[in-house]
Parts: sequence; C-alpha cells; structure tokens
Amino acid sequence: MKILLGAAGAMLALGAGFVAVTGQPLLAQSAKGKKAAATAAATVTAAASEPAKVTLPAADAASLDEIEELVLANHILSHAGVLDAYGHVSVRSSRHPDHFFLARNIAPGLVTAQDIIEYGMDASPVMQTDYKGYNERFIHSELFKARPDVKAVVHGHSPEIVAMTVAQIPLKAVSHMGAFLGLNVPNFEPRIGSADGEMSITSQDLGWALGHTLGKWNAVTIRGHGEVVVADSLHAAAGRAYYMTVNAREQMQAMSLPGAKMTYLQENETIKMEAHDGYERFWALGRSAAGGAK
Ligand SMILES: [Zn+2]
Repeated sequence: MKILLGAAGAMLALGAGFVAVTGQPLLAQSAKGKKAAATAAATVTAAASEPAKVTLPAADAASLDEIEELVLANHILSHAGVLDAYGHVSVRSSRHPDHFFLARNIAPGLVTAQDIIEYGMDASPVMQTDYKGYNERFIHSELFKARPDVKAVVHGHSPEIVAMTVAQIPLKAVSHMGAFLGLNVPNFEPRIGSADGEMSITSQDLGWALGHTLGKWNAVTIRGHGEVVVADSLHAAAGRAYYMTVNAREQMQAMSLPGAKMTYLQENETIKMEAHDGYERFWALGRSAAGGAK
C-alpha cells in the first residue's frame, strides 16, 4: 500500500520518536562538546530509527483525539452489527468546521487512525493521498453542508430498514429509545435522483437530494439501500444509528403480531424521551465490548 505524506506530512510524525533536524551544530566543538554532540547524535539516530507512534497520511495530526474517537465509533458500530463490511461514519472537524473526517474505502471494523482521510465540503481530500475514498462520501459532505448543526453522520444498510422501505412501510418511532426519530422519518427514492439505476449516493447531486429529503429530521431511509442518521455529536450519532435499527426491528415485530393495532409515539413523547445522556451509556458499553482502549 502506498502512503503519501501530504503537505503537512513532515509535521505529522507524532510521539517521542520524532526529532526535528535543523542542520545547526548541536554543541560547540570542544572535547566536552564533541562527546556531548556524539551522544546527542546517537540519540537522534536511535530516535529517528524508531517508528513514529502514529502517522496520519491524509488528516490533520492536531485532530488526533477526534480521529481516535472516530476510529472507536467505527469499531463500536461494527461490533454492534450496525455496520458490516460496508457503511461508514464521519465526524465534522472541530478545528476546521468546513472539513470532516471519514475512513478510506475499508470495512469499519478494520479502520485505524492511519486510514482516516480529512475531506473538504466538496468531498475531496484536503491533503494529497493515494487512498481511495468511499464512493458514497457525498452523503457526508452534502449533509454537513446542508445542516450546520450536524457534527456526525452514520450510513448503514440495516436489513430491517431495507425491508420496510421496499414494502413501503414508513419507519416510525415505536419505543422510547427510538424517540429521536420524531414524528417523521422521510424516505429517499433513488429513482428521483438518478435515471440510470444508480442506488448509491455517488455524486454531489444525489447527496444534495438526500439532504433535501432529510430536511430538519434526524434520520432518513433510502429505498432498497439503507439509512442515514445525523446528530450533534459522534456519540449521539452512534447511539442513534444503533437504536434506529432496534426501532425498525420492534416495529416489524409488532406489526406481525395477530390483530396488531400500532401505537406510535406522539409528539410530546418524542421530545421528552430522547436519550438525555447523549447515548453515553451506549458509547461506554460499546467501547468496552469493542475492546477500545480509551
Ligand atoms: Zn450505502
């Protein structure tokens, strides 16, 4: 795998192993100074030969904490079965709100910090890289553009949600953990945005159309494809993505019971019952289950 260090690459080697080389004499050339200089040079050589703790070939190293959280989100959602080999999760950069972080084209469960690409709102990497990005990165760029309040986006392919979209059954909040779904989960019809059979969100136009369908809501389904959920934090987006699938499963089970008469959440319940801890308990459990170090 070829990895290019971008324009800021020389600044991206982190940890104790990185030593700036200035070209200036370390010490005056006295005997004592020569010995000290030799020791210093050996230290430099040893330090330079050590592998850098973390390198980020396509993202701002100053955002490492945010990137490590994104890696953890990938692992939590993979471990929870929300994302499988496909699907993805992104977070808006707090240092550059017109940038966001998203993994390269890789299964979420395999993502490391070195796989994260920093994107601009045109869905192009802001640093030079040979990494291939997800074809559907336009979901993230267009939703971040359309919704300044959104800090994180998750896109998955829940079988329960796909089944409901193809059966033309609207997803509705049925449990308190699904309260964030509100009174409406809009459904995006890919045929409206594309006449050539494209069902993935592979362009700015399709991403814009998806964002238009999402509107002010927290989640949107895509017929025959999956779902997208947004939130004002990465932890909340991860929790919402999980409980959106749970809600779909509960709704399907309830609808299949003989004589079922569905009772959906009403507006005051959707407002009052959203997880007020920002899904921190879900995040903590997921981090532990996924073996997260932080
Ligand atoms: Zn997809």
